[in-house]
Amino acid sequence: MKIDGYTRTCGLFGNPVEHTMSPAIHNTLAKEMGLNLVYVPFRVPAGCMRQAVEGAFALNLLGCNVTIPYKTEVIPFLKEIDPLAERIGSVNTLVRLEDGFKGYNTDMPGLYRAMCEDGADVTGRQVILLGAGGVARAVAMLLGERKAKKVYILNRSAEKAKALAEEVNAAYDRDLAVGSALADYKNLPDERFLCIQATNVGMFPKVDEAVIEDPDFYRKISIGYDLIYNPLDTRFMKLVRAAGGQAFHGLKMLLWQGIIAYEYWTGEKVTKEQSDLAYEAMKQAMGITEVKSIQA
Ligand code: NAP
Repeated sequence: MKIDGYTRTCGLFGNPVEHTMSPAIHNTLAKEMGLNLVYVPFRVPAGCMRQAVEGAFALNLLGCNVTIPYKTEVIPFLKEIDPLAERIGSVNTLVRLEDGFKGYNTDMPGLYRAMCEDGADVTGRQVILLGAGGVARAVAMLLGERKAKKVYILNRSAEKAKALAEEVNAAYDRDLAVGSALADYKNLPDERFLCIQATNVGMFPKVDEAVIEDPDFYRKISIGYDLIYNPLDTRFMKLVRAAGGQAFHGLKMLLWQGIIAYEYWTGEKVTKEQSDLAYEAMKQAMGITEVKSIQA
């Protein structure tokens, strides 16, 4: 990597940032696209987001990603916010303007891109969304945006599922989502669903857990999409496959949120070949040698 007086810098704001895969994505793209750009992690202490954003602007950073726990906290320090990010209430990408940063959410377009690539488009579909936390909220808005037919939100806390369903219905002005407790999977219509797993359950190190164990539930799933990427083959995915469905993990979502951010920063289109190389670099950084074998 060449670093000289013309090198532009992008980075990641979060806390912690030590386990991030983003440098592998962005520094590979810079190398493959021949851009003089470097991407580095910045651990931002609690309460310091204003200084981080103002400091990044003063230091001429081209753009930044924002991760846990600052995706909402960063919003008041932006000059502008993209309407989708505003609706979701979560910003993971800052793009430099003349007088400050504009905030975008590339997590959801990233998920959409990954799902389309995997043949799991949400438009016109009946969807089960497991979870009602931060990411599930963003997914629910994506499902509204991309015109899913119906969304059944199931969550450990039924109140949160109901509140999220109401919020989505209000945002998209239609009777799209219904929220209820996890156990209500027994009352789902007798159909085959796309199911998006957006809880923490099954994440490393508790890899033998899934929010629902009942094989009857999994028989209703034609495609199961787990947003977890560590491990790459979750218990949820195994249960989906055992019941005859196709299962996918969340690593491509991580890739595509990064690629879309990169395209915003540089104004350059990332080719299929370049995105494949970034995916390989990310897997290498995670110590993964083979991913294809566990896809359905
Ligand atoms: P969050 O806001 O903390 O929400 C956690 C969700 O998991 C809530 O719905 C919570 O239910 C549920 N949950 C937690 N423990 C549970 C348990 N023991 N039993 C049943 N439900 C449980 O987390 P988040 O930020 O939305 O993240 C969710 C997942 O998304 C994480 O696993 C993360 O790996 C994944 N993710 C993936 C990407 C990607 O690029 N692929 C990016 C970001 C996040 P309650 O509401 O009842 O507490």
